[in-house]
Order: sequence, then structure tokens, then C-alpha cells
Amino acid sequence: MNDRFLEGRTALVTGSTSGIGLAIARAFAAHGARVAVNGLGTPGQIEAAVQSVRDAGAPDARHFGADLRDADAIEAMMADIAAWSPIDVLVNNAGIQHAAPIADMPVAKWNDIIAINLSSAFHTMRAALPGMAERGYGRVVNIASVHGLVASKEKAPYVASKFGIVGLSKVTALEYAAAGSRDSGGVTVNCISPGWVETPLIEPQIEARRNGGSRDDGVKSLLSEKQPSLRMSLPEDIGAMAVWLCRREAHNVTGTAMPIDGGWTAQ
Ligand code: NAD
Repeated sequence: MNDRFLEGRTALVTGSTSGIGLAIARAFAAHGARVAVNGLGTPGQIEAAVQSVRDAGAPDARHFGADLRDADAIEAMMADIAAWSPIDVLVNNAGIQHAAPIADMPVAKWNDIIAINLSSAFHTMRAALPGMAERGYGRVVNIASVHGLVASKEKAPYVASKFGIVGLSKVTALEYAAAGSRDSGGVTVNCISPGWVETPLIEPQIEARRNGGSRDDGVKSLLSEKQPSLRMSLPEDIGAMAVWLCRREAHNVTGTAMPIDGGWTAQ
């Protein structure tokens, strides 16, 4: 049985209709949080995601549907969520990927990746952080990547966005470091920096490495290049770290970018 230390708290998890975001939303729900779900999908996919967050234990869960490429839509969404329930925990998780050499990278992909993976976090954080500081407790968890710590070729906008979100997180961690107290839990801003995690996002990259073999062959090829543990993380593994960062005793963990990468960035 999980402790319900997030009872009475409200979390917004962007991109929580799939993958890592959905696992984080479910993990928060299991610890008692109300959850604002955000992300794209068919009405059926969105309803299934919200229902699975309720089933995981959330006292309330609702979908707030801003397209994160649109700053005005994010501002309206943040106002709608604040009217529902002030945000105590903000997870900027939504992200997209497109792999191509820089000379072949479509400009539209650059614009979308920077908007979703980086700029949306600026828009949500500037709306949510002042209220967190007033209440003396707040957590921002930004899902960066190993690609916010080291580069790989053919990922110019993705790596730029992830290095950017690590920098943005450090700045805001400093600006809010003294908010709240040890008892109230303070306001912290951190990144989690995963290596390969088993979600739909990486399927095209697995597919590209099959070379006529099975999906397992594609996975092996991907892992053997950079992730020494030779195993992918599960979305739930990332969820467990996000939960821990929300605990009171994590009050002095701020401005970090925590790798969960099987040794990738130790090399
Ligand atoms: P995913 O494709 O399963 O989920 C992405 C989520 O983002 C979905 O809910 C989707 O609807 C949402 N989204 C995409 N565009 C959006 C938009 N315009 N507006 C609103 N929501 C939008 O991917 P995932 O693997 O779960 O990725 C989640 C995060 O984790 C991303 O930031 C990604 O960069 C990061 N990450 C993933 C891996 C991995 O190996 N899967 C590794 C490191 C970091």
C-alpha cells in the first residue's frame, strides 16, 4: 500500500496521455494527488488515460487540452487549472523527437521541438512558480534527457531543447531556492535525465536499426551503442523518481539533472 503523502496536492503533468507522462501521473495518483492530465490523442485515448489515472488512486483527474506549441493556449490552460485547483507539482514532460542531419532537418520540426520540449516549460513555470512560493511548497520536475547532458548526431533541435531545459531549470531553482522552509518542503526545480525508456517515442529509432531483423535486434543495436546496462528503463521507473522528488525530505535537492541512464553519461 502506498503512503498518500500527496493527498490534498494537485499535479499537472504535461504529455500525460502516453508513455512516461502517463506513468508519472499514475504514480502521483497512487500517492493521493489530484492530477491535471494534458496531452494529445483521440477522445478515446484521452478518456482512457484520465480513467487510468483515476483507477490508480487520484481523488480527481481531468484533461486540460492545450496544444503546447501555442503560448496563448498554455496561458489559458494554466488559468483553467488554477481555477480548478492551484498547482503544487508541475511536471514538464511533453516532448517530441525527429532524427535527421542538420542540413536535412525541416524548419517546422525545429520550431515544434523547441516549442514543445523547451518553451512550453517556460510558459507553465512562470505561471505556476509564484503560487508555489506563496504556499511554501512546490515541485517542478522537468523531463529532460541524457541529451540534455551529452549530444548525439542527427538530433540538433532535440539536444538543443534538452540542454535548454536543464539551463532553464537551474536558473529557476536558484530564483526559488529560499522559498518556503524545511518544514513546508520548499520549492524545488529539477530535471530527470533518462536514457532509453520503453515508450512509443523511440519506436521509429528501434525500427531504423532492425536492418531486416526483429524488434529485439533493433533494441539491442540501440542499447549497445550508448547504454552500458543494456536494458531500457520502464516509464514507471521514471515515475518513482518523480514521486521521490515531491517528498518533503527532498527539499534541498534543487537545480539538479538526475540521469537514469544505465551508465550512459558515466562514460
Ligand atoms: P510519448 O510519445 O509516449 O509521449 C509524449 C507525450 O507528449 C504524449 O502524451 C503526447 O500527446 C504529448 N505531446 C506531444 N506533442 C504535444 C503537443 N503539441 N501538445 C501537448 N502534448 C503533446 O513519449 P515519451 O517517451 O513518454 O516522452 C516523454 C518525455 O520523456 C519527452 O520529453 C522525451 O523527450 C523524454 N525522454 C524520453 C526518452 C525515451 O527513451 N522514451 C528518453 C529521454 C527523455
